Amino acid sequence: MRTDQQARLTRPARLQGRSMSPNPLILDRPAEDWVEIAVPAIVTEETFQLAARRLADNQRFAARNTKVASLLQGLAACASCGYAYYRTSTRTTARKLYYYRCLAPTTTATPAGGAAPTCPCAPTTSTRSSGST
Ligand SMILES: [Zn+2]
Repeated sequence: MRTDQQARLTRPARLQGRSMSPNPLILDRPAEDWVEIAVPAIVTEETFQLAARRLADNQRFAARNTKVASLLQGLAACASCGYAYYRTSTRTTARKLYYYRCLAPTTTATPAGGAAPTCPCAPTTSTRSSGST
């Protein structure tokens, strides 16, 4: 919708050395002015739901900027605290052991000045599974 207001300074106008755009400001009409028209569906409800699910999956499983991907990346979560699991590793003399642990901070400060584990699965009490990825 064309308005009487002046449009903000756009990139083309700025690159031409102008301080304002010569065009009027164009805005969407307010929602109460919209005219709704019933139209037949282009796709079935099932197809729409499948497409929506695919979009959500694509967003969830899209490639990340991970140096070495792990098998359960983005899938495993801690049953105790709900934080996501991440893969980490430790090295023995013979080989490198990979394991998953939750993202909860290992300890939080207590009012008495001590430290308490934030999650029951904190490394000191957790059972670690070893193996690759
Ligand atoms: Zn946890």
